[in-house]
Amino acid sequence: MECVFCRIVAGELPVEALYQDDDVMAFRDINPLAPVHVLIIPKRHITSLAALADDDTTIIGHMVRVANQLARQEGVAEKGYRLVISSGEDGGQVVPHLHMHLLGGRRLSDRLC
Ligand code: 5GP
Ligand code: ZN
Repeated sequence: MECVFCRIVAGELPVEALYQDDDVMAFRDINPLAPVHVLIIPKRHITSLAALADDDTTIIGHMVRVANQLARQEGVAEKGYRLVISSGEDGGQVVPHLHMHLLGGRRLSDRLC
């Protein structure tokens, strides 16, 4: 299996799962950019936002729900946090398996990019 996040889902690369259900999994980013940096991914391999079918967008709502729950769990819900999904090369996506970043625990840049 090539995809690093599919390998994590398959248990081939061990991570501490902060959350998982049948469809979604969350774990800490290996290279955290903020005190709280969690990745929320669909268990099914979807390459990017651009590859998401029109009738498949419910997974995004599901990921947001999990991210909001984790933000509360990680203690950043009140002070604030940012959810980021990068898509494609110009979007800055490095791992070609759809994922959402949950960033918090410090004042993030006012600049979006
Ligand atoms: P992207 O730049 O594609 O939006 O984000 C990919 C993220 O995945 C990066 O922040 C990177 O640190 C993280 N990452 C890459 N490989 C691994 C890994 O094997 N384990 C974990 N926990 N995070 C990873
Ligand atoms: Zn994958």
